[in-house]
Amino acid sequence: TTAAPTAVDVAVIGGGQAGLAAGFHLQRLARDVERGRAAGPAPSFVILDAAGEPGGAWRHFWDSLELFSPAEHSSLPGHRMPALPDASATESGNPDALHVVDYLADYEQRYSLPVRRTARVSTVTRGASAAEEPPFTLLLEDGSRLTAGAVVSATGTFTRPYLPAVPGAAEFAGRRLHSAAYRRPEDFTDQRVLVVGGGNSGPQVAADLLDHAAEVTWACRRPPRFMPDDVDGRVLFQAASALVLGRDGPSVGELGDIVAVPPVRRARDEHGLHAVPMVSRLTRRGAAWDDDAGLEHGWAADSAAAAEVRGTDRTFDAMVWSTGFHAELRHLRQLDLSTTGAGVPRTRSDLPTASTDVPGLYLLGYGDWCGPASATLVGVGVWARNTVEDVAARLAEG
Ligand code: FAD
Repeated sequence: TTAAPTAVDVAVIGGGQAGLAAGFHLQRLARDVERGRAAGPAPSFVILDAAGEPGGAWRHFWDSLELFSPAEHSSLPGHRMPALPDASATESGNPDALHVVDYLADYEQRYSLPVRRTARVSTVTRGASAAEEPPFTLLLEDGSRLTAGAVVSATGTFTRPYLPAVPGAAEFAGRRLHSAAYRRPEDFTDQRVLVVGGGNSGPQVAADLLDHAAEVTWACRRPPRFMPDDVDGRVLFQAASALVLGRDGPSVGELGDIVAVPPVRRARDEHGLHAVPMVSRLTRRGAAWDDDAGLEHGWAADSAAAAEVRGTDRTFDAMVWSTGFHAELRHLRQLDLSTTGAGVPRTRSDLPTASTDVPGLYLLGYGDWCGPASATLVGVGVWARNTVEDVAARLAEG
């Protein structure tokens, strides 16, 4: 075995879809240099992944999760995701999460991407002066160090589930979990379950639970807006692309908040799944709604769904909070990055993956703030490419 390198031109942190997309473009750059199509030298690089196996967050999603787009619209650069071998295996015919795991495992092999596992980066530091070479030092959890000329951070959000503060949370005696920890409805058989969240995972988890739970209550801060039933991931991607390219197109916000994937559509149309306003507080046995619950967040005074819960309390055995994620950036805390009003690191207006504070640091795949649609399989490729172009130009300047 050869010893792991201790110095690279580019360190990619995270071996999920975003890290692999960056690896693809770094590899392609090396090939172009070799063939005289790009000016050299080709940057050396490594992908450091904290996980023991390929697949990033996809390995941890709930069992019944289906992509909101068909395979051919869920591909990373270079190699198409194959269709699900048996399209009837999922309700939509779209791939499930394990299919994505297989695709990502195959992808890193196909391109011989230099992924190091298990390699968790604890801290990234920078030399005291801007002129220090190489500028970055990465300290790994196993105590080893690596220096790098540039860092692409692609650590995702899955490890930073967000649970909003809610009055009475400490009182509740039942099980309260984030959707990141939700796996299957059988774990909630005959239970009364509250599902919170008006994004895509809230209604999907609620729909998943319907056949097993005794009772499902789905609460949202604002009245949820379903996208038209024919809107799927393709349309979302087109909308995001239009935004990136400065073309006119529907904005994703105009389309609504929730993709009406088949299981959610069926739950809504056949089982009456509907949202009620967000709970006002948790109690020991469940949750309670004030008389004016939801009013300040757009639930009408005469809303039937709101009337159902206003001034009442309900008993719950468990609560699943599908309330989103923050970016996993704890390994960057020593860089002291300044943040925008939205609490995310400041990035360049001409390249939303490039840190404004720390030249040579890039943030890839976390969400729209570092590249519209960059947190999707099909959307991350363009941001990986733009990032690698910038990295190459920087290293060439030397
Ligand atoms: P991740 O997949 O989370 O990978 C990050 C990797 O970095 C992990 O392997 C992790 O172990 C590693 N890591 C973290 N910290 C460190 C560290 N300090 N050092 C080293 N390694 C580290 N997208 C679609 O395109 N289509 C869909 O249908 C779709 N459905 C979704 C459904 C749900 C419920 C969710 C939550 C997301 C969905 N997405 C979908 C969005 C998106 O594709 C995923 O969130 C995706 O996993 C993000 O990829 P990533 O590479 O940025 O992060």
